[in-house]
Amino acid sequence: LFITLEGGDGAGKTTQSALLEEWLRARGRTVVRTREPGGTEVGVLIRDIVLHHRGEIAARAEALLYAADRAHHIEHLVRPALERGAVVIQDRYLDSSVAYQGAGRVLGRDEVRELSLWATEGLLPDLTVLLDLDPTAARERLDADDKPFDRLEAEASAFHDRVRAEFLALAAAEPGRFLVLDASRSPADLATDIQGRVQALWDA
Ligand code: C5P
Ligand code: MG
Repeated sequence: LFITLEGGDGAGKTTQSALLEEWLRARGRTVVRTREPGGTEVGVLIRDIVLHHRGEIAARAEALLYAADRAHHIEHLVRPALERGAVVIQDRYLDSSVAYQGAGRVLGRDEVRELSLWATEGLLPDLTVLLDLDPTAARERLDADDKPFDRLEAEASAFHDRVRAEFLALAAAEPGRFLVLDASRSPADLATDIQGRVQALWDA
């Protein structure tokens, strides 16, 4: 079972990934929790480039670096884990690229999606949880948690609005794969909804 979490910065993806991992482990499942960019040793190097050169890096180069990270991550970590029967919980996947590079950097959703599918040999998640949150609320959250929020500050709010709208459009286009949740709700409530959907996948 391949589960991805998507949404803007500060939406609570990391918190929900951790809660889901705990819930699955308590049920005896083998879980691999990972993230992108940066889920492998090579990926950490790529993450360093994309995050530290943001704004100056050419948009197409950025898209290719995310795709490179993804290709390596899927081949070396995710596919082997899935083949062993583990549940993979992944913080961000191809929908992030469609939203950030495709819509945010205006490279085109179809092109970026094709690039990503090529990079991963077409691997799609069984379930994608979209934690939807207004970018202004997300910014306040990151601020309140005293996390580095400069990456949000550095980008125009129009950018984050495009990213959010694209995530919602992706979810609307593939309702079977997506679970869209209002990320302003309590972490415990969100976790319950996610668990319900995972349980339903098993029961199906
Ligand atoms: O989710 P995480 O905090 O690891 O994301 C790191 C940063 O990379 C975030 O600020 C996110 O906006 C950005 N990102 C991006 N394009 C992607 C994935 C992440 O711009 N495809
Ligand atoms: Mg996070």
